[in-house]
Amino acid sequence: MFCKKDLTTHYWIMYIKLNRVVPNGMSPWYNDWLMPKTFEIKAAHKDSSARLGIIHTPHGPIQTPAFAPVGSQGTIKSLPHSTVKELGAQLILINAYHLYLRPGMDVIKKMGGVHSFISWDRPLLSDSGGFQIYSLSPLVKIKEDGVMFSSHLDGTRIFVTPKDIIDIQLTLGTDIMMPLDTFVPYPYKKQELKEAVSLTSKWARISREYFLEKKTSQQLWGITQGSTEWEQREKSIQELIEIGFDGYALGGLGIGEPKSQFFDVIKKSTSVLPQDKPRYLMGIGYIEDIIKAVELGVDFFDCVLPTRNARNGTLFTSQGKVVIKNKKYESDPRPLDENCSCYTCRNFSRAYLHHLYERNEISSSILNTIHNLYFYLDIFTKIRQAIQTNSLNGLKKRVINKEEDRGR
Ligand SMILES: [Zn+2]
Repeated sequence: MFCKKDLTTHYWIMYIKLNRVVPNGMSPWYNDWLMPKTFEIKAAHKDSSARLGIIHTPHGPIQTPAFAPVGSQGTIKSLPHSTVKELGAQLILINAYHLYLRPGMDVIKKMGGVHSFISWDRPLLSDSGGFQIYSLSPLVKIKEDGVMFSSHLDGTRIFVTPKDIIDIQLTLGTDIMMPLDTFVPYPYKKQELKEAVSLTSKWARISREYFLEKKTSQQLWGITQGSTEWEQREKSIQELIEIGFDGYALGGLGIGEPKSQFFDVIKKSTSVLPQDKPRYLMGIGYIEDIIKAVELGVDFFDCVLPTRNARNGTLFTSQGKVVIKNKKYESDPRPLDENCSCYTCRNFSRAYLHHLYERNEISSSILNTIHNLYFYLDIFTKIRQAIQTNSLNGLKKRVINKEEDRGR
């Protein structure tokens, strides 16, 4: 039998679990205990800020540090999902902007959401499409309540609000959703940067409040802005922490700013971001940058680099980059990477990969993507092992030295 006090406690537990909201004034201890745990830290690296963790999603766990291969249209170009899974992809990233334009939300709703539409049963992260709106659309007008843009396909004028972007991702049913944000290119004008940070926070609050009304088991992560100007980045981070998200992304980086400033802002950001939430460095793809960011406490990455470069014939290997179209590989009998055990390296010569590339064969994209994706996902496995064995510095030195040997 419950006594009156137990009944009250029981009521609040039910309320919080059903509504995913802790009432104002309730202790943060209760908050931690009662809210569903979406992120767990399993181990911390002794000599750096790197962490080993698990993100829990409705479609299974994601071991961090994690890499999300980019499949904007719901596919990793040139590979079937079965291969993507065999290569070790824990999740893929899809793009709300592209799927909203084509095939459109009506089709995806009819197909029962994007997991069912594309037949992918592992976690999915959807990018809000903000970056694509600003980078692909010829006529963008940012207003206080949303963005007006022209479809890059047929020029149709479309206006989206932060709530629309949440609705789109609710229909998609992705495990991790991102809100609409706005960013400025680098180099930036101070006033424009300030305005972008303010508007991003305003939209983040609208997005989060609307998301919480929906009572979904999907997650919504916040995107911080502020380029490399710490005053603005810190303001953005603090405002987003106050709103409260399931994870925090660093947006608007890797767009031409000096490397020293790039790492400086990551270091400062991870020192103020909540320890118990995943940190996501958006769109950063060079392995040496990734390892350095992991050391600074970043947990999550995505980038088109391994897949796009594979199709362009640029391959990442343990000995540095290989540009397979180069004539010197025309009769090279060696595998692409002697230290790699992917299907491509186990079975084919550089000469054959060169031939396929030069003849524009579809299998060139397939075999190159298998290798590059395997290489990336394997590095992430090594990163996770190195955090556990406290040997991340050794891994970083091996990777960076190889890159320098090749004169990058
Ligand atoms: Zn390989």
